Amino acid sequence: MEIRNCKECGRLFNYLSGRPICQDCKQKLEDKFMEVKNYIREHGRASIAEVAEANDVDTKQIKQWVREERLVFSDDSPVTIDCESCGAPIKSGRFCKECASKMTDSFESAIRKSQPVVEQRRDTRDKDRMRFLDKH
Ligand SMILES: [Zn+2]
Ligand SMILES: [Zn+2]
Repeated sequence: MEIRNCKECGRLFNYLSGRPICQDCKQKLEDKFMEVKNYIREHGRASIAEVAEANDVDTKQIKQWVREERLVFSDDSPVTIDCESCGAPIKSGRFCKECASKMTDSFESAIRKSQPVVEQRRDTRDKDRMRFLDKH
């Protein structure tokens, strides 16, 4: 067990995992989350600033929930957050569709390439050596 200062209220508490905030603050944050969620359901077209003000929550906290995909704004809502890679406006998660698919592609091709390349290189080297020996 680890004793830490709560990031919200500064009190010492037994840190377990996740964000370094105490149980009380975690509970308060959960309550806030439900408030915000209900507010968004009723005010589908509210901006992040409006939601933040109406519920007394930090805009950063709201964006955090959107990134965690806990909060989802409706399609006709003006609310967007930035793609962490290219900055394009997105509705939820961390990356836009393009960046997400680019990342999956490079990840997959990295796996596909890794083994065969080593084999091929060894083959050409052996052939070169044989050609060299043939000349002499
Ligand atoms: Zn606290
Ligand atoms: Zn992007």
